[in-house]
Amino acid sequence: MAENALLTAPVSKLKQLLGDGTVSSEELTKAYLAQIAAENASLNAVVTVCAEEALASAREADAQIARGTTRSLTGIPLLHKDIFCTEGVRTTCGSRMLESFVPAYDATVVTKMKAEGAVMLGKCNMDEFAMGSSNETSFFGPVKNPWNLSCVPGGSSGGSAAALASGMAPLVTGTDTGGSIRQPASLCGVTGLKPTYGRVSRLGIIAFASSLDQAGPMARTAEDCALALTAMSGIDPGDSTSADISVPDFHSALSTDVNGLRIGLPREYFNDDLDSRVRENVMAALAELERAGAILHDIDLPHSHYAIATYYVIAPAEASANLARYDGVRFGYRCDAPADLEDLYQRSRSEGFGEEVQRRILVGTYALSAGFYDAYFNKAQQVRRVITEDFQRAFEHVDVIAGPAAPGVAFPFGSKQQDPIAMYMEDIYTLAVNLAGLPGLSTPAGLIDGMPVGLQLIGKPFDEQTILNAAFRLQNDTDWHLACPDLASLSS
Ligand code: GLN
Repeated sequence: MAENALLTAPVSKLKQLLGDGTVSSEELTKAYLAQIAAENASLNAVVTVCAEEALASAREADAQIARGTTRSLTGIPLLHKDIFCTEGVRTTCGSRMLESFVPAYDATVVTKMKAEGAVMLGKCNMDEFAMGSSNETSFFGPVKNPWNLSCVPGGSSGGSAAALASGMAPLVTGTDTGGSIRQPASLCGVTGLKPTYGRVSRLGIIAFASSLDQAGPMARTAEDCALALTAMSGIDPGDSTSADISVPDFHSALSTDVNGLRIGLPREYFNDDLDSRVRENVMAALAELERAGAILHDIDLPHSHYAIATYYVIAPAEASANLARYDGVRFGYRCDAPADLEDLYQRSRSEGFGEEVQRRILVGTYALSAGFYDAYFNKAQQVRRVITEDFQRAFEHVDVIAGPAAPGVAFPFGSKQQDPIAMYMEDIYTLAVNLAGLPGLSTPAGLIDGMPVGLQLIGKPFDEQTILNAAFRLQNDTDWHLACPDLASLSS
């Protein structure tokens, strides 16, 4: 198999090649490490490479394959977003605050993927504390989109999406608080799944907004996402919000049967604000599902237009509480020669946090302060309920809700950075899903001027299977998910 074909092969194919001895995990691991070495200088998608550890676990995986004692991901290389704590491996969350933080334990997601035999290659760049939609807020510099190096990869899991799209790993993890798996998946032309809130443990994931954060996989196919989702899901005694609900084998339950599947198209997502080219691509993808037997219905999510305002009160409020722990005393960045305790707090936090993080802390603290709590935070919680009820009502009539994953394709660096509101609009189609705790995925739906665009499929709570199946069918009937950036021209 030619090198490039190996680098862009899905996990399902790599499992076959490992199983029949065509390739060893060590060879695979070396190939991805070489790709990271060759392309990361231009893409900046990976912040930490664990070459030695990866090769050691690849050799261990090869021994297991030889013994016939394999698990679902034995020998499969992967990269984690740098928001997941990794024992003994620096975990920065894209921030100066945690530039030299080395956790003493693994996040549950990391433990679970390891237990399934995956080989960790390293950690991916991200927006600082997962706040952003472009990866421009990372302390470690922006990540470039492998489809066009002058454009952003999306965010906040943009390092993960860019690494995957550029053949640095066949599988990556991300987190999604308001769209951070689905939007970068859309902008980089890969498949990304945000599970139902509670499906995946948040233990060891550096907290941004605890009632919204959820981890999930990004991969080349829906089939690979199904495999990875089963590996990372399940109740965790260390996370009281993880759900006590059985984890199906999403992979073996995959089905291409979408006959009679009712797909709702919210009028609010397909209104005049939607870019006409995005609409065309999304509708073409939905027409494929219709040909396969799905039935399209117009539906209403009447409170959708409150989602951005609601999210940008709740998420900063929770962030301001979660980020209070970075005080320069216990761990993280500490300023030089503080004059007194006040100065220590103030300078450690102003020097350790970037501008966007400070903006969120200010907004969140304000929204939670006495006198404003009822007007902002409480009100936002009430609207959140109303938005959730919109989805509940819609799901009485449809099985899946569909729309764009992002309002457009990848945009040039700097084009939205000076205007936070323009940047916040990137999440217009994704963040209501987090407010309602629902599962959502983005699957490639073709290109616009050579840049990828994603179809978003939203499911009922804990019904990841149905959206995975719809994406699986779409990927069975079309080849949009096979489109790759030109790897040969990346570093030239
Ligand atoms: N772009 C959104 C924000 O900046 C969502 C981020 C996320 O999902 N982590 O808050």
